[in-house]
Amino acid sequence: MSGARGVKSVNMDNKVLECPRDHTTMDEVTVGDAHLDLCGKCGGQFFDTGEMFAAFGVKADPSYWDRDETGGGVKEGNIGCPRCRKHMLLQDVKYDGTHVEIDRCGHCGGVWLDKGEVESLMTIGEKIKPLLDKQKADAQAELDKMGEVDFGGAGLIARFLGLFSKKK
Ligand SMILES: [Zn+2]
Ligand SMILES: [Zn+2]
Repeated sequence: MSGARGVKSVNMDNKVLECPRDHTTMDEVTVGDAHLDLCGKCGGQFFDTGEMFAAFGVKADPSYWDRDETGGGVKEGNIGCPRCRKHMLLQDVKYDGTHVEIDRCGHCGGVWLDKGEVESLMTIGEKIKPLLDKQKADAQAELDKMGEVDFGGAGLIARFLGLFSKKK
């Protein structure tokens, strides 16, 4: 008996999940590298944190749709998380005429998507990509500018090392 683990953690071993909408037992399906839980009755899908990227690729990743530009309003939801049973939050995601309201668990990071919502998220990911590419390019240009005043690269590292050698 170890007895050291007093902290209750999220039960990730909970094998059989129940659909939060109609309480149907969900089927575990494999998409890409991910295992997600699918309700055969309403078509809803539950993703554990990180699985959306693994299942549907980069445009389904939260870094694409979970942003200031997509609204991001969050309010109290009305379903419980299939994984950890906590109350889920409703998050507004909208961009350029596409709008979807997803259920998200603030506790385990799981995402519940009703039928068709993953497609809407990917549409948003598709539409927002040029904007993100531009932001990345701007950030890179900013870095390049810093490089011109000899602040980055070897110069910075040399100064950093210099701080330590002075102490000796
Ligand atoms: Zn269902
Ligand atoms: Zn949860």
